[in-house]
Amino acid sequence: MIFPESVTIVEVGPRDGFQMEKTFIETGTKIELINALIGTGIRRIEATSFISARAIAQLRDGAEVVKRMVRGKDIFVEALVPNPKGAEGALEAGVDGIRLFLSASEAHNHKNVNRSVEESLAGFGEIMRVVGGKIPVSGDIAVAFGCPFEGDIPLDRLTRIAGRMLDLGLRSITLGDTTGMATPSIVRKTCEALRKAHPALDLGLHFHNTRGVGLVNVYEALHLGLTTFESSIAGLGGCPFAPGATGNVCTEDMVYLFQELGIQTGIRLADLIGVAKRVEQILGRVLPGQVMKAGRRLDLHPCAIS
Ligand code: ZN
Repeated sequence: MIFPESVTIVEVGPRDGFQMEKTFIETGTKIELINALIGTGIRRIEATSFISARAIAQLRDGAEVVKRMVRGKDIFVEALVPNPKGAEGALEAGVDGIRLFLSASEAHNHKNVNRSVEESLAGFGEIMRVVGGKIPVSGDIAVAFGCPFEGDIPLDRLTRIAGRMLDLGLRSITLGDTTGMATPSIVRKTCEALRKAHPALDLGLHFHNTRGVGLVNVYEALHLGLTTFESSIAGLGGCPFAPGATGNVCTEDMVYLFQELGIQTGIRLADLIGVAKRVEQILGRVLPGQVMKAGRRLDLHPCAIS
């Protein structure tokens, strides 16, 4: 098997991870962590969401985070935006890219944003008018590999939703495995169907490790030639319907896998492990990341002979 030479990692911990945290993380701490992540070589980061404080109080400081974090020509800072007002806030704060989200199933979309999928797509149209082509807009399709309320997502439904998003001018689409229902065979079927329906589509993947097969799904996607993967430092995040369930695929574990496969990420694993440990320290509890606990493969130990 010939793997891609390099992959792009999108760090989503500051958004997908932090939003699950009940206790408010101070703005300065968020900025410190984001800057540390950028310091490891991460170049794409979903920094926050421009959502109402009523909906997610944890991310109420999005504008300040974006304005004060380290920025640079080669750093691409994205924010999740739920409506035109959020888009105005994100533009005003100066993000590099906006992400819109909906769910592949009606039930999950209703539960998440209290709208039908059709209504969400109409909302995307309004947001696209606000953005007016000033910055790129990408789309996230949640529960793309299975919905906790409706089960499997028909592939023609998924390809149709993706088609509508592309027609609206969205640049790329990420399939989200929000509650960890993806398996390698579902990943293969789904990605193949999407690529067949939309050959030019720039497709990203966002797996959760809810059932322990997150990296197996990444590995399967590598075999399909996919190269954009989202993950969360220390495996932050969770599953809103399964308290205590593991969160996103862990960034440093994924970087470790890529490194061992000889695939370039541009990220320094040792530094990333340091940031993961700092996140654990800040949140005051053990997080799911594994390489941060075990160390790199060839971090050797003294062999004491007694
Ligand atoms: Zn997620």
